Amino acid sequence: MVAGNWKMNTTVDEGVALARAVCAAVAATRRVDVAVLPPFTHLWAVRPVLEGTGVRLGAQDVFWKDSGAFTGEISPAMLAGWCDMTLVGHSERRHLFGERDDEVGKKFVASLAHGLQVILAVGETSEERDDGRTFDVVDRQLDAVFAELDGPPAVDAWVIAYEPVWAIGTGRTATPEQAQDVVAHIKQHVRARFLDGVPRVLYGGSVTPANAAALFAERDIDGALVGGVSLRAEEFGVIVGAAETAASARDTV
Ligand code: PEP
Repeated sequence: MVAGNWKMNTTVDEGVALARAVCAAVAATRRVDVAVLPPFTHLWAVRPVLEGTGVRLGAQDVFWKDSGAFTGEISPAMLAGWCDMTLVGHSERRHLFGERDDEVGKKFVASLAHGLQVILAVGETSEERDDGRTFDVVDRQLDAVFAELDGPPAVDAWVIAYEPVWAIGTGRTATPEQAQDVVAHIKQHVRARFLDGVPRVLYGGSVTPANAAALFAERDIDGALVGGVSLRAEEFGVIVGAAETAASARDTV
């Protein structure tokens, strides 16, 4: 999977044009799930652009209640049926807006309950990495979500994105080995809990056309969550192309 997180960028018109350009850039894609995550204001306008293209539509966040006095929030009930997925736990939500692990868990469960696929983002800060706490941090973030669940989610109902905070929007990508190390750990941690219910795990953090192929060549990395470059359709298309090549290579092993 390659998903593009547009963050708080583009006007509605620009977003519709970007969605069109993304669809054109990834038209040859067969094996890779491609998704765009525009701002909430754009979702309804972008939906028809994606019709028939195979490109999926996601929201960058969601609240956990269906309705009520929660000014400014968007509920999964509002997205269900026409939006394909949500992203929860992005590091900008956790660190800029103070979102707690248990709140991420509630958003995760509410999304699943409404039939929305969920991308769950986890990752450590540079300080946590320097202190040797990377695995503890991602385990804590995952366990807080698992604590909200009654049972294992269907394997295709969720995707994990490992996004080291120090690599997001900084131009400082994790090396393929660093990313593989943590992604393999995440899969092991999930396997210990859900046996064969291990979902795809993406890497996110300054992924570009220049580094995508090396990341996707790693055994456990199943794609990317892309921020900055997802605003440039052609480059985003090159990243999707690298994922397509990696997926073909896996098929022939
Ligand atoms: C992101 O926002 O999830 C992200 C990975 O951003 P960037 O690719 O810009 O580092």
